[in-house]
Amino acid sequence: MFEYVPRKVATPYGWGLWRGILSAYVNFVEGLSFKVGNGCNVRFWLDEWCGDAPFSLQFPLLYRQASLKHGVVADHFCNGSWDLHTRRRRPRGGEAQEMESIHVFLRKKTLGDEHDEWRWKLQANETFSVKFFYSKLLRSHREFSPPRNPFPYKLVWDPPIPTNVKFFLWTLLLGRVLTADNLLARGITVDANCVFCKEASESIFHLFMGCTVINRAWQSLSGHVVNLDGILLQQDIKGVLESWPKQSCSNLGNAVWQTLPYAFLWCTWRMRNQRIFRGKDTSCSELIKAIKLTTWEWIEVAKEGDALKREHSVAEILLNWENVTTGD
Ligand SMILES: [Zn+2]
Repeated sequence: MFEYVPRKVATPYGWGLWRGILSAYVNFVEGLSFKVGNGCNVRFWLDEWCGDAPFSLQFPLLYRQASLKHGVVADHFCNGSWDLHTRRRRPRGGEAQEMESIHVFLRKKTLGDEHDEWRWKLQANETFSVKFFYSKLLRSHREFSPPRNPFPYKLVWDPPIPTNVKFFLWTLLLGRVLTADNLLARGITVDANCVFCKEASESIFHLFMGCTVINRAWQSLSGHVVNLDGILLQQDIKGVLESWPKQSCSNLGNAVWQTLPYAFLWCTWRMRNQRIFRGKDTSCSELIKAIKLTTWEWIEVAKEGDALKREHSVAEILLNWENVTTGD
């Protein structure tokens, strides 16, 4: 079976499932050893069947000289004695020492009629179990590749915003929202220009943060809040969301302020799509208004949402944005 295992995928492309299986294959093979019967299905040099490692690792000098590198054990046993099929008939130096040692191993070995069997050496009962192997994979994954930038789950799932927006945010933070640069990278030809400023090519950073039009909208909605300048200089959206400050104002102000960056990203994306797919040329002030209305709409998702909506009106947000969001 091992002859049919393809090479490990080393490029960043490739089918995820198969890539995952191949990456676990190495760990799987480490847990295997063989009990040789007739020797027809176990590779002499490459499988672990005698000693704690394959012969190719235990006796590397001999392996280099071997002419049947992929041959099975039975290929090396003839008329009751072992033949290593090494190219040099009279081994020298290190090879001679290895030859002596390998024959110490082989002296006790002989082939029978029964089939070869494989064993799972990582468990005392030598029986493979998916549960055990899965937990071993998890352990080794944690040991060798601790996540350098763990995905910010809390940023996505905690805020009081609608579920479909959470999914949008999920793909956005993974960098997979289909902006022009991502489409081009997948070989899809599109107009790469930003639909808002029409001056730069569209990327996630440009569309949501770097674009002059979008920047104007950020400033208009949050520029009145003291000490907020640094936030818009963040390198990415994750940075903005993580450092978005809490405001201590009215309950309405807090609720609106808390969801503002999310409403901003969501409305910008929708407006960008409307421009591209429906040719709807909305202005920056329309975007700003849409964002304010969206924060009001989303209040329903918050814990005290119903009470807030009964006590306040959307007009407060539209006409008095700065006061509502600073508590003045
Ligand atoms: Zn732009």
